Amino acid sequence: MKLYNTLTRDFSEIKRVDQSDAKKEIGLYACGPTVYDYTHLGHLRKYALDDVLVRALRYEGIAVKHVQNITDVGHLSDDGDSGEDKLEKGAKKYGQSVWDVAHQFENYFWHSMDLMNVAKPDVSCRATDHIQEQLEMVKTLEKKGFTYVIEGDGVYFDTSKLDDYGKLARLKLDQLKEGARVDFVDGKRNPADFALWKFERAGENRAMVWPSPWHERSFPGWHIECSAMSMHYLGDQFEIHTGGIDHIPVHHTNEIAQAEATTGKKPFVEVWVHHNFLQVEGEKMSKSLGNIFTIDDVIKKGFAPMALRLLYLSGHYRSEMNFTWDNLAGSQKAWERLVKLVGEWKQELDSQNQEGGQDLPKLSARAQKYLKDFSDQIADDLNTAQALATMWEVTKSDELSSQDKLLLVYEFDQVLGLGLENVNVKSAEEKSIPEEVKKLLLERQMARENHDWAESDRLRDKISELGFSVVDGQNGQTLE
Ligand code: AMP
Ligand code: ZN
Repeated sequence: MKLYNTLTRDFSEIKRVDQSDAKKEIGLYACGPTVYDYTHLGHLRKYALDDVLVRALRYEGIAVKHVQNITDVGHLSDDGDSGEDKLEKGAKKYGQSVWDVAHQFENYFWHSMDLMNVAKPDVSCRATDHIQEQLEMVKTLEKKGFTYVIEGDGVYFDTSKLDDYGKLARLKLDQLKEGARVDFVDGKRNPADFALWKFERAGENRAMVWPSPWHERSFPGWHIECSAMSMHYLGDQFEIHTGGIDHIPVHHTNEIAQAEATTGKKPFVEVWVHHNFLQVEGEKMSKSLGNIFTIDDVIKKGFAPMALRLLYLSGHYRSEMNFTWDNLAGSQKAWERLVKLVGEWKQELDSQNQEGGQDLPKLSARAQKYLKDFSDQIADDLNTAQALATMWEVTKSDELSSQDKLLLVYEFDQVLGLGLENVNVKSAEEKSIPEEVKKLLLERQMARENHDWAESDRLRDKISELGFSVVDGQNGQTLE
C-alpha cells in the first residue's frame, strides 16, 4: 500500500511486517482531540479518514497497532508556548472544573466516533495519565544537554543543538522570525525553541499542576505528550503518524526533535500522513461565523451520520473539502439508495437460499475484477473517491448478479466502514426525517385545517431552514 509521506514529499510503500519479525505489526499513532469543547465536522472528517486508513491497512493483511491520545492538558492557544491552556479556557466557558470539562468532551468525542462508525483505537491514552513518561523524557533531554530553563516560564528545547530541526516542514531556520510561526517568549535562545515543560505563572492558580525538578507547580507542554506516549506504546521508532496539516510546522516538527534527540535514532517515524482541512460553506470554521457543527446537529437536521461518512469518502484526505448542506443532502440520497439496494439484494439472496440455493456464495470471476480495481484504488494513497466510483459502478452493473453485488459491497465496506451488513433499511429511511421536522409538519397540518395560511407559510419556512421542502398535494403535505 502506497501513502504520501510529508517527510520525503514522496510516496512510501507500507508493507506487511515479516512474520519472522518479533514485532509482527506496524505502529500507527494518531494525534487525538483536545477535549475542551465539542467534536466538530472537521474532527469527524479527520478521524473517519484515519479509520479508513487503519481498515485499509488491515484489509491488505497488514497488522496494525493503532494508538491515539487524548489531549487533556498543556495545549495552549495557537499551539504556541504562551497563552491560555485550552482546557482552562473550556472550564471558564462552561463554568465547570477542568477535569469535568475534559471528561465531558472526551465522552462527546467517543459518542461522535460511535455514530460515525469509527472503530476504537487499540490504545487510547490521556496525557494526564502519562505525566511520569513525559517527565522522564524531559529529564533525559536535560541530561543530554538539549534544554535550558527560562525562569518563571518553563524548560525549553534548544533547537540549535539539532542539525536537522525543521526537516518535516522544510523550515528555513535562518529566515524564521520569532512571533511569525510561534509566539514571542522573552529569554528564548533561538526563535524556533519551544517549551517542553511549563511553570504555573504567579497568581495563575491552575487546576492541573504537578511537581517537577524545576518547579513545584508545573505541567507538560503539548508536544512532549505525543512523543512520550507514542514511544511508550510503539517503541523508539515506528511506521506511521497521522494528524491534520496544521501540525506540520510546529507540533510534529517538535515531536520529531524531542524523540530523535532523546533516542539518537532516526527516523522517529517513517511515514507522516497529513489530512487536509474541512471548510464549511466555503469558510474556515469559527465561532463568530456560527458554522461549527457537531454530529448531533447533522442528525437534528435529518441526515444519517453515514451520509456524512459517504460525503467524506467522496474527497481525498490530502485535499481540502468544502462541506455544504446541499452536498450532504445529495449524499443522504445516495446513502438511502445504497441501503435500499442492499436490502433488495439481501432479500433476493435470502429467498434463493430458502429455495435450497448454495450455502456459501462466492464471488464470480467477473466480480473479481471490480474487487481488484477497488483494492488497487485504496492502495493508491487511499483514493476513496475512485473506490466509491467503483462501488457505484457495481450497483448499476448489468453484468453482475445481485449476489455478486451484495458480496462485493460487503467486501468494500470492510474498508469504507459504512456498516452496511448491519444497517436496517426501514430505520435508515425513518431516520431521515427528524423529530423536529415531523412536529413542524403536524403543526402545519393543523394550521392549514384552520385556514391559517400565514402560520402555514411561516412553518414551511422553518421546515425549509432545516433542509426540507414541503409540497402540498392531493393527499396532504409531502417532503422533498
Ligand atoms: P484538536 O482537537 O484541535 O487538537 O484537533 C484534533 C485533530 O483534528 C487534529 O489532527 C487537527 O488537525 C484536526 N482538525 C481540527 N480542525 C479540523 C478541520 N477543520 N478539518 C480537518 N481536521 C481538523
Ligand atoms: Zn499530537
